[in-house]
Order: sequence, then structure tokens, then C-alpha cells
Amino acid sequence: MREIITKQCPDCKEDLIKSKSYTSGRTTYFWQKPWATGFFDMKRVLKIYPWACMNCGKVFFYLEDSERENIKREYETEKYKPR
Ligand SMILES: [Zn+2]
Repeated sequence: MREIITKQCPDCKEDLIKSKSYTSGRTTYFWQKPWATGFFDMKRVLKIYPWACMNCGKVFFYLEDSERENIKREYETEKYKPR
């Protein structure tokens, strides 16, 4: 049996199950940094996995833990830049 990765549903506190993939056919789930410029920032688009709650049926998207800290750091820098 494949590994089933879970976390707690923020709404009902039951099991959220991570999707096997972030793509299906031509559909890809992603989040793009609003401050990204140009095509050469290879990390401007981040893959995101859907997570489905086995109790309430809601589906949530989460950034990968490995990427979240970097994005948070970039955001902290970006939000204080003059516009
Ligand atoms: Zn739930």
C-alpha cells in the first residue's frame, strides 16, 4: 500500500489526505508569486497539492513545507519595498 500522508482538517479537525499528484492530464495546480519577474526565476511558480478531508469533503491547497519558509522570507522582504 502506498503511503498516505495526512494532516488535520482546519475546519472539522478530521483527516485531510494529500493528493497523489498535483497534475492530472493537462491540469496542474500551482501558485505563482505575485512579485516574480521574468521567466528566469525558476521558482516563480510553485506546485501545490490538493488535500481532501475525509469527513467534511472540503479540498484545500497547501504550499509544500520545503518551499513555504523561502516564500515567507521573500514575502517579508517584498512587502516593505516601496511601490
Ligand atoms: Zn474537514
